[in-house]
Amino acid sequence: MAEATVDRRRLVPRTDAVLADPRLVEAAARLGRGPVKAAVVAAQQRVRAGELEPAQVAAAAVAALPGTAGGLRTVLNATGVILHTNLGRAALSPAALAAVVAAGGHTDVELDLGTGRRARRGRTALAALAAAVPAAGDVHVVNNGAAALVLAATALAAGREIVVSRGELVEIGDGFRLPDLLESTGARLREVGTTNRTARADYAAAVGPDTGFILKVHPSNFVVRGFTRAVEVGELTGLGVPVVADIGSGLLAPDPLLPAEPDAASTLGAGADLVIASGDKLLGGPQAGLLLGAAELVGRLRRHPLARALRVDKLTLAALQATLTGPATPTWQALRYDPGALRARTEQARAGLADADAELVESVAVVGGGGAPELELPSWALSLPGRYAEALRLGPTPVVGRVERGRLLLDLRCVPADRDADLVAAVRAAVVAGRAEGR
Ligand SMILES: *Cc1c(COP(=O)(O)O)cnc(C)c1O
Repeated sequence: MAEATVDRRRLVPRTDAVLADPRLVEAAARLGRGPVKAAVVAAQQRVRAGELEPAQVAAAAVAALPGTAGGLRTVLNATGVILHTNLGRAALSPAALAAVVAAGGHTDVELDLGTGRRARRGRTALAALAAAVPAAGDVHVVNNGAAALVLAATALAAGREIVVSRGELVEIGDGFRLPDLLESTGARLREVGTTNRTARADYAAAVGPDTGFILKVHPSNFVVRGFTRAVEVGELTGLGVPVVADIGSGLLAPDPLLPAEPDAASTLGAGADLVIASGDKLLGGPQAGLLLGAAELVGRLRRHPLARALRVDKLTLAALQATLTGPATPTWQALRYDPGALRARTEQARAGLADADAELVESVAVVGGGGAPELELPSWALSLPGRYAEALRLGPTPVVGRVERGRLLLDLRCVPADRDADLVAAVRAAVVAGRAEGR
């Protein structure tokens, strides 16, 4: 036993020799020497453990290396959930991705190349947002929707009151509760109405000299049914205080496919003084918090000292502008994907998986955490034995589906069509791995 161990040690190729392999030299230039060396050391360890042939060390290290140095694995989203929070919500359009790459170098983000002087940060992205919503007197962009709420609450209501319906004190997800966030700014919540019913008179009775603003929050991840009553933004004007509307999803204009989703233009048109929304939900852009509204209010937010702590990166500004002015986003396309075309793609994928117990089944896709909680999109999926779920998540091309009644469903709606072959190859690899383990 001891002798075998010694023999194996002697057989392990030297680290320097392995690192000289041209594939690993190239990988070190792309990813840095640290991760490449770590992959080589891990492969050498597998030789010592008797799991790998000495001649395979370089190849195993190459196979174990990620595609990029970013630390995040690119995942094929086969969940049928268009805006999956755990998968990073919206996928950026190719135009936005290209804009991010270009913005990664030195840019004129705060410089006027004509005069050589300092210019307003992100002015072209802000202009694109303003142009997309002409009803807004001015616009501002911060890190995310939560940051936009914090900025509004701090600048407009710290030490004062925010009047809000009890039916709108929501939890967005992962323990993020709107009331906690708002109170952390030093503003006090003045709750009005009840969980299911709030009337204009409730707001009117609560508004006073201490009111910073009235807040309307769109319930973006649930619906209340039955004996309910809510007050529309349009009914809250004329009470002498600003009306701030958190619409959540980031639709800038009405979308006939999403009749229940509020949009910035209509909400401002109805009389809101300030609209708050996220950039990476239905707008399909980067994580960002959009603030649109009366020029005087937006100006106060922009000049508040906290604005500097919440300001967005140049990468975000570039991606946002390309999302606003560029071609259709993956989110928009996934929402409208033709079920017939989806069925044909799924059928073709199934045909490539003759011995995998794969079936073509009807599926229902949803928007997800980004809004439209009631919307069901008729879809199609590959149905596979549930036991493949783990191998597919852990493979070189991670595929994430959803398990329903013991079957793994892979809905191709949010998988780029040019990645279908990769998905089929990943399923084949999972089947082969399952067989090798006798399952
Ligand atoms: C998503 C959401 C938020 C939080 O926005 P983030 O961009 O995730 O910070 C706030 N309010 C509503 C109504 C939302 O839907």
